[in-house]
Formats: sequence, C-alpha cells, structure tokens
Amino acid sequence: MIFRQLFDSVSSTYTYLLGSRQGGEALLIDPVLEKTDHYLRLLSELDLTLVKAIDTHVHADHITALGALRDKTHCVTVMGKKSEVDMVSMRVDEGDTIDIETISLNVLYTPGHTDDSYSFYMSDRVFTGDALLIRGTGRTDFQGGNNSQAYDSLFKKILKLPKEMFVYPGHDYKGDTVSTIAEEISFNPRLKVHSEIDYANIMNNLNLPDPKKMDVAVPANLKIGFNSVTQEIEEATIKAEDIINASLNKILFVDLRENTERIRDGVIPGSVHLPYKSLSENVQPGGLLSAISESQEKQILLYCAFGERSALGLQGAFNSGIKNIFHLGGGISAWVQAGGVAVKPNKPATQG
Ligand code: FE
Repeated sequence: MIFRQLFDSVSSTYTYLLGSRQGGEALLIDPVLEKTDHYLRLLSELDLTLVKAIDTHVHADHITALGALRDKTHCVTVMGKKSEVDMVSMRVDEGDTIDIETISLNVLYTPGHTDDSYSFYMSDRVFTGDALLIRGTGRTDFQGGNNSQAYDSLFKKILKLPKEMFVYPGHDYKGDTVSTIAEEISFNPRLKVHSEIDYANIMNNLNLPDPKKMDVAVPANLKIGFNSVTQEIEEATIKAEDIINASLNKILFVDLRENTERIRDGVIPGSVHLPYKSLSENVQPGGLLSAISESQEKQILLYCAFGERSALGLQGAFNSGIKNIFHLGGGISAWVQAGGVAVKPNKPATQG
C-alpha cells in the first residue's frame, strides 16, 4: 500500500493518502481545500488516480477539499450518514466499508466531538478524525458535540481495537504524527478517567476559544454540492416524482452505485448495474451505453445514491457524444422519498 501523511500547517490538519500500486487507485481522508493542487500533483507524481475523497466529520477549522477534488477529478465523495452536508456521493454507516482496489476501510460511528464523527480502520491502523488525538481527544463543545457520546466512542469502540493498532489522528498541534491504541490507553491524560462523569468534568473545563475559521468553515463545509451545473445537465435531470407513475418500459435505469450500497438500500426494479468507475469505458464508442444510445430503443437514465455520481457520469457521456441519456436528480434517495419502489438486487453483480 502506498501511504502518505500530509500536513496543513495553518489548521494543523493531517490528510491521509492511501493508494494501491496495482491499478493505481487512491483515496484521501480529510483533505484541506488550500492543499488541493498539492494533492493533485502528488497523485500525478505517484501515478495514482483519486477514486474517493472522505471526510471524518464536518470540520470547523478548515474548508474541506471534497467539492474541489470531485470537480477536478470526478472522484466519489464520501461522508457518514449523520453528516448534514448538502451533497456527497456516498454515505456510510457503522459496519459499512469504504473500498478501493486492494484497500478496504471499516467504518465506525464515533460521535462526541461532533454528532457526525466517524473513524475508519483497516488491519493495522485507525484514522480517528478528532475522536481520538495523540495524548488528547476532540473538543465536545459545538456542532452537536456530546461528552457522554465521546466517552462511549472512546471506551466502547476505539479503545477496544487491537492494542498494537496505529492511531492516525485528524490533527496534531505538537508535532506528533502517529501513536498506537496501547500508547494512548497508557499515556493519554484524557483517558485516565474512571467514569463518564469524570470525562465530562475534564471536557467542560477546557475553556477553548472557537476555531479561527469556524464561522467560515462550517457553512462552507455544509454546502459542497455543485456550485452550478451546465444547462445541458440541468435539462437532462429528471425528477423522481415526474417519472414514478410514468410508463417505465421505455426507460433503462442504470445504477452507478457499488454493490454494498445496492444491497443496503435496494435498487429500482429492472435496473442494470454499471459501477461508476466503469462508466468511462462504457460511454466510449463500442461501449454498452454507447450501443444502447445508438439503438434508440430506450432512454438511458443514470442513477446513484444522491445524484452526484450520475451528474458527473452524465457529463462524461455528453463529452463522449452520447445522446438520449438523463439522470435521476437526487438519486434513489429522492426516488424512495417520492414513493418509488426499491427492491433487493436479485443477484450480486460482478464488480463494484
Ligand atoms: Fe473537528
């Protein structure tokens, strides 16, 4: 695995790059907006393709690069289910995994610093965001922070991970880079408590000033959806309520999500599965969507979870000259909300 720990000195944020040498797929955890060009240059130097960009929670001290990275690389943006961000491609919950080739991150819901804080772990390391820092823990005094939840996330989840597991935090203000679960249990002063009440007493007496960028960062981080979409895409956006009762036999629903999402959230009946990352080859001349479009038998309707991947996919299809193609605004989430039926996928597809 290719692994880089990157640092933003303005907000003392750590960003993690994980990549697979095999096919060059990569993901970034907690990228910082001002560092976007640096990430893109590094990805290019290492010959990696950014497939996913993930935030552990809505940050208060820096603006996320998720939106900028999506716009520049068409990567999939990922956050936890509890996040109130206006648009991400994929939402994950405890027990889910975030996958790229050869790398799989397990998702733990670890609220307390904020109510949308998640940690991600693989066999030898955990990315704790601000839930657990080196010799510290994330503050709990804003954004739905909660001492009791923080205590449970630490003592019932993170500290139960294997003792030798490396801890990679979302920030460090002293220059430390990595720790282990065992080290934090032994030496983290915030963890030397005997009860939830002891922990709350520590956290309630920190008297920290608000992060400098909080008033700017939080609103910006809650609104990372497309700034604007082209007229072409707007005109090709179909609302769920407009087709839910229409005759569907002229429409070919194409599901761009991954298998895990399909199994968890269901699929629109009769849809075919074409994972987002295989879309670019399928819109090329000779590809599946290109052939369907040319036959003109059906209108192609791309959909995903919330409409982000399908909008990006639509742009790629237009760029390849495909016509007769649309996308479902708001994805299957909007479809179900409008009363549309979602069923279990009848057989697992081969990839994604
Ligand atoms: Fe934070």
